[in-house]
Amino acid sequence: MKKGRYAQEESDIIAEMRSKGKSYREIGLAIDRSKDSVASYCRNNELSGYISDPKRNPDLAFANFLEKIEKYYADRYEYVGGYADSDSPVELKCLKCANNVVFNAVVIRRGKPAICKHCTKMAKVEKKKERIRKAKERKRLAEERRRTAEEEKNRTYTLTCDQCGETFIRGRRKKKHCSKLCTTRSSWKRAEVSRRKKLKENGRIQWDITLDKVCLRDEGVCHICGEVCDKEDYVITDQGYYIAGEGHPSIDHVLPVSKGGTHTWDNVRLAHRRCNTLKRDKVSSDSFEQLELSM
Ligand SMILES: [Zn+2]
Ligand SMILES: [Zn+2]
Ligand SMILES: [Zn+2]
Repeated sequence: MKKGRYAQEESDIIAEMRSKGKSYREIGLAIDRSKDSVASYCRNNELSGYISDPKRNPDLAFANFLEKIEKYYADRYEYVGGYADSDSPVELKCLKCANNVVFNAVVIRRGKPAICKHCTKMAKVEKKKERIRKAKERKRLAEERRRTAEEEKNRTYTLTCDQCGETFIRGRRKKKHCSKLCTTRSSWKRAEVSRRKKLKENGRIQWDITLDKVCLRDEGVCHICGEVCDKEDYVITDQGYYIAGEGHPSIDHVLPVSKGGTHTWDNVRLAHRRCNTLKRDKVSSDSFEQLELSM
């Protein structure tokens, strides 16, 4: 700790710190002197007493006030004018919007939330603009979605039918086939594949069984209704498909394939397609069409 005469530099620091209301102890710490030494220096140089009391020294009170602005609002406001005492109006400049705002000094001195009314007003305006912008954007997106959906609806695709090989144009609905007939044929084929698989599982298959031979053996008579079958009951479509009618003969499995029936001479009988279908509906939920195995 230093002793002896005060250097000019120290005198300046003391004067400066006293003007800001610093205590003898604080000054002593700053210049490495004892509190008592600083106090006696101040007494001898008219720096003691009221000079460090803001209540009695308006300059000090004002300096303190400016310090408070710096401390609490450095990034928001700067001092413009005003301030008579701690409870008077004071004008500050908002650093965000560059407008001047008047506050009561007590608000600023205590570092309370000091909101710029100009900024608040602008924020409201901005918010409203943002709301309008968002609403417009939502409307635009909805319109775009609607247009895309519309386009998708009207779009067409050129595809090749996996049944007849013809190219066809389809719309939105996903179709694999050019016509209802091809769709039916496709499902028949699938049914037939699973039917043949089941037949194989059921046991022996007599491959020499044909509709003609069964017709010959059973003398063209349906074993279900006893009526004669009509071999002429069929149509040939424009595409050249052979479609058998209701009265056309078909091979019926007495014990249905789905129930373990085999494709053997002892399990096949002649039946109208119509009777066959009726029986199938009655016997089981067999879903496959009764097609000739020779298809
Ligand atoms: Zn502002
Ligand atoms: Zn087709
Ligand atoms: Zn019949």
